[in-house]
Amino acid sequence: MRIFKKQKAKSFSIPPLTQEEDLFNFLPLPICFFDLNGKVLKINPTFEEISGYKKENILGKTIEKFFRKNEIRRIKEETLEKGSVKGRETTFFARGNKEVPISLFTLLSKNRKGEIKGVLLGFYDLTEIKKRETELKEVRTALLNILEDIEEERKKTEAEKNKTLAIITHFADGILVFDKEDRLSLLNPKVEEIFEVKSKEILNLSLSQLSKFPNFLPLLELLKKKEKELFRKELKLRENLILEVSVIPIKAKSEIIGTLVVLHDVTRKKIIERMKTEFVSIAAHQLRTPLSAIKWTLKMLLDGDLGEITEEQREFVNKAYRANERMIKLINDLLNVARIEEGRYLYKLSSLSIEPLVRKIVESLKQEAERKKIKLEFKKPKKKLPKLMLDAEKISLAIQNLVENAIKYTPAGGRVTVSLKVENKEVIFSVKDTGVGIPKEQQDRVFSKFFRGANVMRMETEGSGLGLFITKNIIEAHGGRIWFQSKEGKGTTFYFAIPFFQKVEHS
Ligand code: ADP
Repeated sequence: MRIFKKQKAKSFSIPPLTQEEDLFNFLPLPICFFDLNGKVLKINPTFEEISGYKKENILGKTIEKFFRKNEIRRIKEETLEKGSVKGRETTFFARGNKEVPISLFTLLSKNRKGEIKGVLLGFYDLTEIKKRETELKEVRTALLNILEDIEEERKKTEAEKNKTLAIITHFADGILVFDKEDRLSLLNPKVEEIFEVKSKEILNLSLSQLSKFPNFLPLLELLKKKEKELFRKELKLRENLILEVSVIPIKAKSEIIGTLVVLHDVTRKKIIERMKTEFVSIAAHQLRTPLSAIKWTLKMLLDGDLGEITEEQREFVNKAYRANERMIKLINDLLNVARIEEGRYLYKLSSLSIEPLVRKIVESLKQEAERKKIKLEFKKPKKKLPKLMLDAEKISLAIQNLVENAIKYTPAGGRVTVSLKVENKEVIFSVKDTGVGIPKEQQDRVFSKFFRGANVMRMETEGSGLGLFITKNIIEAHGGRIWFQSKEGKGTTFYFAIPFFQKVEHS
């Protein structure tokens, strides 16, 4: 069906100007009037502006050029049928096919006689509104996304918290957390078990309030020392309960915000350690008697007490004697280590001068040094040394270990220098060698039990790795300290210092 009936040109007439003309021109809304053929007969300046065309290029042209054909035809039909169309959202095509979203209104125009003259069409430009709408939609989506993210984060944090709590609750070690004010802010069931208290009785209590619980006293004593940095100590809580207590400051941006205390039950480990030490001790004792019987038999053979022996036999017996001696030294070292660990390495102190002890040891090792073509010398101290409280036998053992090591780990042609001096109310002993040195990466383990340097293992020199462990214990039991400087391939200097008025640790 044709909607726009063709009309003859002569019947085309512009409606008479009325009073409303001013209003028509003045309105900020785009308005046009077209006849039943769809020919635009009148537009207002706003329409002209929004269309982008000049007025003369619009008037007399079809309204269809501004809309989708089907749509404008439908709108016109509806207008004819119902008299008007209100707020229809559609697209206006301005110059250059520029799409303008609009809300459209029409009104059927009749003359006084009631004859239909054409259609008045006006619209709102929805561009801005649409833009805002899109923006709003975007903002809304963004907001929803943020909310979703927050929710997700919250869930994650919650899950993380639950996980941490589960770990703490089921942790095999006791865990206590004290806040900045030293109030107990967290503890796990293991703590309740160790101290035989209920969580609700002690939670949020300060250190002084906790001291009302006698079971807590040993731990509080330890915490009171208030070493701010991390430390680890052993604590005997009861006869059958030994704990290793680790105190760790909790820091947030370098500020301490609390303290974490971890209680690790080492009772079993201690019992096993004690059994091991006891075993070594017993085995070593049992070995000592036959070894000394062998020693004396071999000695008698060497001294000719059992009859003459040939040179060749002497050589073999000598080898056996030396091997036996090494075995005796090892057994003695093992026994000493066991005594140290059992707290039975007791000291008999008396006021002594250390110099004669050092001289005697250096003298006794001269032969060994010569055999190895090493120059061993003792540098006389410049000042007279004060007497020290010493256990002569044990300090001699320490000095002997250090000088023997220097000779042992220095190749032929080298030099070993022993010296004594006084500095800051301490007597300082040193033994300097030009030997193989200690590899840098192993230096922090030098004083631990059974340590042997990778470089000396290659040399295949004999040794047990117990000498320095024992030596360190001896020096420290005299209130002294021991240290060294070493460069691999260049040499090593071992030092120990014993204060004049030492505070002696009796084990
Ligand atoms: P041992 O000498 O029986 O192996 P020690 O406890 O006396 O045991 O020494 C441990 C290790 O320390 C040695 O095996 C060696 O690697 C290293 N060491 C000790 N003294 C020296 C030294 N003067 N020069 C180089 N290495 C040394």
